[in-house]
Amino acid sequence: PSELEQQFTAALKSIARRMDVKDYVEQTPQLNRILSHAAKRYVAGDHLQDGMAAGKKLAGRGYSLSIEYMGENTFDLAECEQAAIELKALIHELKLAGMPARVSFDLSHIGLMVSPSLAYSYLMDLAVQAAGTDIELFISMEESGKTDDILSVYNQAAAVYSGIGITLQAQLTRTLEDLAAVTSPRRIRIVKGAYQEPDHLSIARSPELNQRYLQLVEIAIQQGHQVSIATHDEVIINAVLERGWLQDSQAEIEMLYGIRPDLASRLQRAGQPVRIYVPYGHEWYLYLCHRIAEYPPNLYQAVIDMVSG
Ligand code: FAD
Repeated sequence: PSELEQQFTAALKSIARRMDVKDYVEQTPQLNRILSHAAKRYVAGDHLQDGMAAGKKLAGRGYSLSIEYMGENTFDLAECEQAAIELKALIHELKLAGMPARVSFDLSHIGLMVSPSLAYSYLMDLAVQAAGTDIELFISMEESGKTDDILSVYNQAAAVYSGIGITLQAQLTRTLEDLAAVTSPRRIRIVKGAYQEPDHLSIARSPELNQRYLQLVEIAIQQGHQVSIATHDEVIINAVLERGWLQDSQAEIEMLYGIRPDLASRLQRAGQPVRIYVPYGHEWYLYLCHRIAEYPPNLYQAVIDMVSG
């Protein structure tokens, strides 16, 4: 990305995170309505049934599936509980439908902002609900200020329940050490990282970041982890294919719903393992901002979607 694009990305991510801007969007029905049209490109809908319907369609086309109930930074106890109940209901629906999906979520949606032990206890409730099925629980990675707490809750849970995975961000310089610390084979998703981080902790979008990303994937595969290569970056994906990493391991490509569906379909038709990550829920606002911020041309698409909605 050019310097201007990087500045746009940083500005949009920080404006999006301002609570007064979020409140303004939520409390202005007209604005809320038109933005929600733009969000539909990336989000299955507000409700569990919307996530299930989109997931069933994708599974029918041969994709593996992740489903996320969106939400983060929940301080209110009742809202944390509501999020955990929703995730349990999602696991229940997947079981009924016989769909072997991966249920993704932020720990800060289910209690981390109150205390790591609360998030752990909800996570264990989800593990009980998912035990004995081929439904995986998958923890997303959030801002660097939360990384230690997230890894600590993950490590505690993974020691007692194997059907759980963790997301690691290539953009954080610490991730090489975090990956090295995962000694037994686990489920690991590698992403570039969606958050705006201080320079001294992170690597900006660049060839250097792509090199680091590939280095992490290689180490993770060598360590015997089940790796999700979660990116839309064709440079990375082509390098992975050239090196034969998808053939010789349990690795797969994972892409977000509505982003580069052409690429996902091309890979899938060529016989590569592809998983699509479907988010649903009413907390679509930040998610939409991130998807526009990380690829500025999406702004034009969003305006077209808003106008045509
Ligand atoms: P980028 O360098 O951002 O983009 C490379 C190229 O991909 C672009 O040039 C463009 O061609 C294409 N592209 C990228 N984004 C878009 C877009 N929005 N629209 C259209 N084209 C695009 N981040 C976290 O911080 N924590 C998480 O837990 C997390 N979970 C994720 C789970 C999955 C399955 C995926 C795919 C991503 C997740 N992310 C998460 C987001 C991730 O960190 C990146 O922000 C996002 O994937 C964009 O980075 P990229 O690897 O595609 O590369």
